[in-house]
Amino acid sequence: MTVLSDLLAVQTTDIAISQAKHRITHLQETIDREAAKKALAEIEAQIASCDAEIVAANSEITKVDRLSHEHDDKLVKLNKQLKTVIAPREAEALQHEIATVTTERSALDDRELELMGVVEENENKKNKLVPVQTSAKSTLAAATMALSSAKQKIDAEIAALTEQRSAQSLVVPTSLMSTYEAKRKHRPDGAVCRLTGPTCGSCHLDISQGEINSMRAMSESELPECPHCGSFIVF
Ligand SMILES: [Zn+2]
Repeated sequence: MTVLSDLLAVQTTDIAISQAKHRITHLQETIDREAAKKALAEIEAQIASCDAEIVAANSEITKVDRLSHEHDDKLVKLNKQLKTVIAPREAEALQHEIATVTTERSALDDRELELMGVVEENENKKNKLVPVQTSAKSTLAAATMALSSAKQKIDAEIAALTEQRSAQSLVVPTSLMSTYEAKRKHRPDGAVCRLTGPTCGSCHLDISQGEINSMRAMSESELPECPHCGSFIVF
């Protein structure tokens, strides 16, 4: 029955391998790296939004400038005209137009000031965000390195366990290995176990003393199994 002890050793290694694989997919370093990535993306989105506002404001400033020049030219023209007209009604109409253009011109100035304020405000916001972005970038780089090193460590562990497992399985007959693999499909951690008192280590149900006695009395070629779950029992 020592063959079952050998099989139990294989199973212990198999469990260690699957635990290591589970650990690799549930690393705190992965969560940390995702958080660092998200933080950087949020800062970069804020910077991009500042850039977009600056571009939009500057483009409107260009438009406002052009309109202001047009208004200036118009005012020069209207004032010249005003000097040449004699009819009071015509002069009145021109004065009215000059007043309208002057009001518009002043509104354009106000708008330009407002837009320059938007540019300044966003430049300031960006200047504050740039050092935060730099620090978020280095946090992400550190988190990426930590994750890769944690993964490498577990990969090495899995490689060592896999090597150990193939050495351990060499001493187990091939047919028993196949039976073991088949049993493991239903009970990955309990294809073979020891008893704890009368209790099966796989299904945790009690086995009667009579059944335990007859299992103990089995010949070397017979392999005792739990009557409840079918797990091999190692004495
Ligand atoms: Zn059992």
